[in-house]
Amino acid sequence: AEAELVRAQRFESLAMLAGGLSHDLRNLLQPLLLAGDSLQDYQHDPRLARLGKLVRDCGKRGLDMVHSMLSFASGARRAEQVRLGTLFSAFDLLMQGSVPHTVTMELTIDDPELSFDGNHTELQQCLLNLCLNAIQAMPDGGRLRVEAARVQLPEDFFQPGEPSRQCCYLCISVIDDGPGMEPAVREHLFEPFFTTKEAGTGLGLVSCKRIVTSHGGVMRVDSKRGRGTRFDLYFPLEGLAADNGEAGDQDNLEGAA
Ligand code: ADP
Repeated sequence: AEAELVRAQRFESLAMLAGGLSHDLRNLLQPLLLAGDSLQDYQHDPRLARLGKLVRDCGKRGLDMVHSMLSFASGARRAEQVRLGTLFSAFDLLMQGSVPHTVTMELTIDDPELSFDGNHTELQQCLLNLCLNAIQAMPDGGRLRVEAARVQLPEDFFQPGEPSRQCCYLCISVIDDGPGMEPAVREHLFEPFFTTKEAGTGLGLVSCKRIVTSHGGVMRVDSKRGRGTRFDLYFPLEGLAADNGEAGDQDNLEGAA
């Protein structure tokens, strides 16, 4: 437990560092963006105008990254309407080049028109982390499935402390047929800095869980040695029900239905 505390504290320091760094970066990027902005309107020299546009575009991208880093550090997020079909096709594009030809990736959506309150960038980040994990778990190839469907959850689905709502949920699942996990690995999955990889950070799943939780959702993992791994993310599609616990921060997320 002490080691866990140390890890959690290290994670907090990391988040603070990221927060501080983001502020400094933002102050640096903003004037750059302005400079690029005015340069790109420079009529007399098209080459300069093109350079201005480049500076502006890069500055804008940097600023977007800084914003998502800031929201990661502070836990605050910018809410927007996320359309499922758009999320998935953008994600498909994002994955191009990251899926080895030995892995087949299948995206399935029930209802592409489904829209919900969320943060597009964060949700993509979350899917990306899960899919990259799945791909890394299948070095000899395999099948990676990402599915989205509307579901109803039974009343006893939630654990104490988890935010529960009486409503329809969007379930996004990331399923691989890799080797699965030992119970010893599963137990520590959501701890900051826990990794079994040589070059791993052990922050991927922590960040996923943060994102799901900040969307009012919950996450389940089902993984058995030799039988692949399945992550299910449940996002509420409607308002709060009566007794809504605190944003569930329990770490006992293993073993779904
Ligand atoms: P990292 O990928 O940097 O190790 P994560 O938090 O994303 O950090 O994952 C923690 C650990 O969980 C991984 O090192 C791996 O052992 C295990 N893991 C995650 N996803 C899978 C998966 N799909 N199949 C098998 N093991 C997994």
